[in-house]
Amino acid sequence: MDQLIQIQDLTFTYPAQQQPVLKDINLTVNHGDFIVIAGDTGSGKTTLLNHLKKELIPAGETTGDVLINGKPIKTLSQLDSAQTVGYVAQNPQTQPIMSTVIEELAFPLENVGCPSNEIERRIAELSNYLGLDQLLDRQISELSGGQLQLANLASVLILRPKIILLDEPTSQLDPLTTQHFFEVLRRVHEELGITIILSEHHLSIALSLANRMLLIQHQTITFDGPPTEGIKLMGNDERLGYFIPPVSQVFLAGKRHLDDLPISVAAGQRAI
Ligand code: ADP
Repeated sequence: MDQLIQIQDLTFTYPAQQQPVLKDINLTVNHGDFIVIAGDTGSGKTTLLNHLKKELIPAGETTGDVLINGKPIKTLSQLDSAQTVGYVAQNPQTQPIMSTVIEELAFPLENVGCPSNEIERRIAELSNYLGLDQLLDRQISELSGGQLQLANLASVLILRPKIILLDEPTSQLDPLTTQHFFEVLRRVHEELGITIILSEHHLSIALSLANRMLLIQHQTITFDGPPTEGIKLMGNDERLGYFIPPVSQVFLAGKRHLDDLPISVAAGQRAI
């Protein structure tokens, strides 16, 4: 089945609020999509992402349905949920629960009853893939913001989810670590075939990787289509210009990947 997520007529109101924060949301996410959700602060991006992860669905009044692999999200078992949808939070500090990186990677696997030899094998394989080997024994508290966010991504990837949701994952990272983080995401998407949905304010680089952009305005999705079209609706929004060159130039030149960016921008990719 190509359709991984279906949102059907979702309307949601937080407790004690008069107005819904999301209204009549309809969306189908296909296997292999890389979707960037754009919208002003407070437009509902986080609330929408949280409705796609069973454990994070906020309390409030909901109508409509969210289906994951054709099943209502609330009927997913804990195991199913953990192995289908991963979530990387905005603030890298809030995610880790263990003391060291290796413990942080082992914990989700222990939680789903993975045997210890398999845990070791998966950690070795993934840390090698992400270039995290040197960090495995480090204390979480000693990591830089970029290293921490990479460790957070790894602790999600270790369960091999079909979808990864990321809520402004680079909002607390500097431009160079942001570049590196997105390069990793590009590989995860292209090489591992994982579907990615992220909200982001460093839009230009995120959009250069995405095949779809959603724009949330007035509590609903007002645009769902190619980023090249979506950015036209954003005018001179400064979030598009966070990186040089402006995204329009990247797209006009038909370039879609970090490797295609000029050396001065791409040079920071390895700086974590
Ligand atoms: P974004 O991610 O686009 O910044 P959010 O989904 O965080 O937007 O928030 C959308 C709106 O919902 C905002 O007006 C915010 O103040 C409100 N909101 C977020 N969380 C809660 C909550 N737990 N209770 C009440 N209102 C909330």
